[in-house]
Amino acid sequence: WKSEEQIDRYVPTHCCYCGVQCGMYLKVANGKVVGVEPRADFPLNHGMLCPKGSTAYQTVNHPDRLTYPLMRRNGKDSPLERASWDEVLDTIARRFRELQAQYGNDTVSIYSGSSMTNEKCYLMGKFARVAVGTRHTDYNGRLCMSSATGANERSLGIDRAANPISDMLHADCIFVIGANVGECFPITTSYLWQARDRGCKLIVADPRQTPIARTADVYLPLRSGTDSALLNGMLHVIVKEGLIDEDFIRERTNGWEETMALVEQYPPERVAKVCGLRPEAIVEAAHMYGRANAALIYTARGLEHQSKGVDNGVTAANLALATGNFGRPGAGYGTLTGQGNGQGGREMGQKASQLPGERDVEDPEDRAYICSVWGIDEKDLPHSGYPATLMIPAMLRQEIRACFMICSNPMVSLPDQHTVERALRGLDLFVVTDFFLSETAELADIVLPGSVWAEDEGTVTSLEGRVIKYNKAVEPPGEARVDWEIVCDLARRLGKGQYFDFHSARDIFNELRKCTKGAKSDYWGITYEKIAEQNGVFWPCPSEDHPGTPRLYEKRFGFPDGKARFHPIPYIPPAEEPNAEYPLVLTTGRVIYHYLSGNQTRRTPFLKEMAPYPWVEIHELTAARLEINDGDWVTVSTRRGEMTAPALVVRSIRPDTLFIPYHYGHTQAVNQLTNPVLEPMLKIPEYKVCAAKAVRASQR
Ligand code: SF4
Repeated sequence: WKSEEQIDRYVPTHCCYCGVQCGMYLKVANGKVVGVEPRADFPLNHGMLCPKGSTAYQTVNHPDRLTYPLMRRNGKDSPLERASWDEVLDTIARRFRELQAQYGNDTVSIYSGSSMTNEKCYLMGKFARVAVGTRHTDYNGRLCMSSATGANERSLGIDRAANPISDMLHADCIFVIGANVGECFPITTSYLWQARDRGCKLIVADPRQTPIARTADVYLPLRSGTDSALLNGMLHVIVKEGLIDEDFIRERTNGWEETMALVEQYPPERVAKVCGLRPEAIVEAAHMYGRANAALIYTARGLEHQSKGVDNGVTAANLALATGNFGRPGAGYGTLTGQGNGQGGREMGQKASQLPGERDVEDPEDRAYICSVWGIDEKDLPHSGYPATLMIPAMLRQEIRACFMICSNPMVSLPDQHTVERALRGLDLFVVTDFFLSETAELADIVLPGSVWAEDEGTVTSLEGRVIKYNKAVEPPGEARVDWEIVCDLARRLGKGQYFDFHSARDIFNELRKCTKGAKSDYWGITYEKIAEQNGVFWPCPSEDHPGTPRLYEKRFGFPDGKARFHPIPYIPPAEEPNAEYPLVLTTGRVIYHYLSGNQTRRTPFLKEMAPYPWVEIHELTAARLEINDGDWVTVSTRRGEMTAPALVVRSIRPDTLFIPYHYGHTQAVNQLTNPVLEPMLKIPEYKVCAAKAVRASQR
């Protein structure tokens, strides 16, 4: 710790963790980041940070940082040894080309992440398609908010939250379904409390009584995986009681008749049985939401991490559309993105089916435009490839034999871990770029030491759709390099350096602006200077004199006719339901002290101390029946595996449900147990529901 007099510089930047992207200063002394201070001038967090943000700086100088390249020189069983940059990059380039000559270009895959800047996300998609020449490029956002993307695109035509977070202050009712706001997006709760102080009602639907659920006017402890039934049931009540907005439906939407006919089949009594709720509570929630002048719906992974995740999001949008809750202060629907750049990362063209600016890799006009910016022939632009979750079976089939991974830790984050491990171990060449030796990097043939957010500059798009900028505070340690420089260097060694002649993150940003010009997520009018002047700019921002667009859908939705789309969504149960052998439901999620796979936060002393290992949250009635006491070791099993962790006996979870946080690796990974079944459209796994059983392993 340094006294204030010893601080050389305060570098304005943002937290590297969740999608809220709170403003902070990094304190720099003697060329090292030594502390953090919240920014009172940033209009979202107003001088607040959560426990993760307050300690984020501790990853920068952490003794576990990778400071030189590592390589296995004598096969899979040999140790990772120190190597030079020339040796590792030349080896990667040579082996990629050898494998591609033998098995085709698509035998190499690129697997990236959404906690990177827009510049890096953009670069990875271009690197895959132009430098490597493979169609298999995807990212860990596939596991995160891709269901919300599908719902936004199907219902509203634009994949972004409809409102800035400050719109909470204008809402009469906020309905949170499947979002643990207090733990996953902590700073946004201050808006919730301010809204509550102004009389705003709060409805929370969640199988666990999360911190905000404890204060809700109506708490709906629904059974995991029954979200669409609940939302259809609420719309049923709203229709019956004449609470729909007929003018809005007529003038601004299509397809209402079919949806109205479908929700007729979801009376509260039927829905109550499906969801495990009281019918009166469903009616009360519907009245509260339907009678509000301005209401907001927020969803997150609880609703989206399901094999029906897209459908669930669509039913939430149906509810908001039927009540005319769009395009006004305090009225809207949005997903709360969990990853720092969950929003920007899904726009920049690193996805299997997408070019930058959310353009379609199969659309001739989009292809022609991006090829013109990149200066390549359209025939050289690969078509769509496998999403991240389908790369694993392709690796097992040896259709994919090499993988370049950055900013991802699938050995914690993908479901059915034993299968994932077999797939990654079986690769002919597995390269990981990271700043710590993650559980996944441990399996790599080559590990490239990359940079953390404080060592580079670049933009990130927050969960509001606000583009903000990280500023560089220090250099990477030892021989570690800034990520985009590593990727450009490798592109040169693959013979494609002319397309990666970038000298700064700004150069990359300027090219990506061009790629998004005229697209729905238009960054053309956003510059680094404008971000600094305005404290962030909301897309779309089509010209440099445009102020940006905090609230969407004030006049038009994102379809050519300007109208939103209703879709009738029948309730379909989750892929696995409890039975005699597996009588409980296992669900997973985050805790306030950890971020994603925990690769950073499990190394942060305070956060590690607060949540050092996973636990099994179990209701006291279920625990008593199974003779489990608080703190006993419990073995939880599913059809894919088992794990043992201490019991946390509570009253704040449904008696038929178990919860285990997902931030841990190796034998502590709950994803050894989760179901890899995928949502059919966007291929997100069903992390939130699988059948499980629990037995006491030993007493405390
Ligand atoms: Fe960081 Fe999110 Fe916490 Fe803000 S709320 S400090 S962005 S983790």
